[in-house]
Amino acid sequence: MLGAMQDWTMRITHVIDHAAREAGMREIVTRWADGSETRTNWAGIRADALKMAQALQALGLRKGDKVASLAMNHSRHLVSWYGVAGMGGVLHTVNPRLFDDQLEYIVNHAEDKVLCYDAAFQPIVDRMKERWTTVEHYICYDSGEHSPAFEDWIGEHDGDFEWVTGAETDPCMICYTSGTTGNPKGVQYEHRSTLMHALAGLQPAAFNFSSASCMLPVVPMFHAASWGLPYAGAMAGIKFVFSAVNDPAVLHDLMIREKVTDSAGVPTVWLAHFQYCDKEGIDLPPLKAATIGGSACPRFMIERLMKNGTRVQHAWGMTETSPIGTVGGPTWDWDELSFEEKVDKTAMQGRPVFGVELRIVDLDDMMTELPRDGKTSGALQIRGPWIIKRYLKAEQDAANQDGWFDTGDVGIIHPDGTLQLTDRTKDVIKSGGEWISSVELENAAVGHSGVAEAACVGMPHPKWDERPVLFVVKGEGSDVTKEDILKHLEPQIAKWWMPDAIEFVDEIPHTATGKISKKDLRDRFADYKLEG
Ligand code: AMP
Repeated sequence: MLGAMQDWTMRITHVIDHAAREAGMREIVTRWADGSETRTNWAGIRADALKMAQALQALGLRKGDKVASLAMNHSRHLVSWYGVAGMGGVLHTVNPRLFDDQLEYIVNHAEDKVLCYDAAFQPIVDRMKERWTTVEHYICYDSGEHSPAFEDWIGEHDGDFEWVTGAETDPCMICYTSGTTGNPKGVQYEHRSTLMHALAGLQPAAFNFSSASCMLPVVPMFHAASWGLPYAGAMAGIKFVFSAVNDPAVLHDLMIREKVTDSAGVPTVWLAHFQYCDKEGIDLPPLKAATIGGSACPRFMIERLMKNGTRVQHAWGMTETSPIGTVGGPTWDWDELSFEEKVDKTAMQGRPVFGVELRIVDLDDMMTELPRDGKTSGALQIRGPWIIKRYLKAEQDAANQDGWFDTGDVGIIHPDGTLQLTDRTKDVIKSGGEWISSVELENAAVGHSGVAEAACVGMPHPKWDERPVLFVVKGEGSDVTKEDILKHLEPQIAKWWMPDAIEFVDEIPHTATGKISKKDLRDRFADYKLEG
């Protein structure tokens, strides 16, 4: 016997229809790269998305076709998220920071037919045009000096369009991972997985949005679907403030003027914001909540934001997980915790949102499940409806037959379900048969005021197999010494974790998504020798 409820196919178009209907007047503000500002609202975004869907069809695109965007955060990019999906197409958000070979590979591999780009990326387009063999049309989000301008292009249509329908499992977006080895791999999100992921993001334990929320997402729309914010935000009918540039002065000004309540970004965004406020002698913006993820959020950052009255939602996820896996927020015992304990808890990566399951397994056999005892660390695996099954065009599944996907992360699970990430499987340091967390060492080191950035790498050691070496970039004007740093680390970590050497460097290499690239660091110091 079947149930007797209504059919409702999980498609992205429901999200924008709802936002336009129920929160049509709620504003979407953009501060453009040239300093100008525009205002539209959810009704306007939907109207333009309908026109874009028509414009794409007029170019000959059909269901399943791919459209690339090479763009920062702004309202026209948001229109594309809904317009492409509404036409039945698949939006491929390209990370402009990738190297040319990667840019060539991913656009051709995805078979993008149209590429919409910011004028700021015209040099990339000029350089890559010959190498992108599948792209037939270029549209410029800004003025159309070299390609048709987005507003003119969609402006030729009246928006009288029925969203293209289809299966819940149709793809709607592709994001490529920016792995440090081999070609990037495509992760193809579905209408259904995206919608469920966005619903999970709405949980109070996650983004905690209400219609009064005003979000300035610093996480780029080209990285891991901007953590699903453009969908979850539409569901809740929040106000969005976008900035096409990431200058802390611009962000700060927007946060104050537009009464921003929420923001989201990687820790370096906040580092830059702190430095800006310190230099100007001004307070941090009075945000209600900051979602921080992408890499570990250092303790001092949590402390400073919490003292500012800002709730810190430390989130963990990856492109392959849409990306939300866990989010940290106040737990049931929150009110009984001291300030220090609250900071300690927030420095962990939070608890899984409904829909995903986590487990840790033995690092040696990658199979045996380990206890959630708050002590044992192991390889982190995840499964759920918005977790990758197979990479785009891959022949084999990325997840095992039970759905478990190996994240490449190493962590501890606490009895209350809190995940504490300790490392990457490739970066964890094995010293005399015991594991040392490179990430914990780094986090402890960046807590020193004279340290701007730190990266810890296991270097070959004649007796212990590997020993930690800490690479440090000094803060501006700092005269911190190696002894100062060792003294700072001493009370925070086990004695046998103390780095065997500290090396000062001018800069630490980063990947295209701004994370420390230990592979590049290891390559650069390939001949490094530790004494026995
Ligand atoms: P990406 O797919 O580029 O977003 O990278 C995902 C990876 O970033 C994860 O596998 C983690 O190694 C790292 N990561 C994401 N969030 C966090 C976090 N909150 N703390 C520590 N590492 C994180």
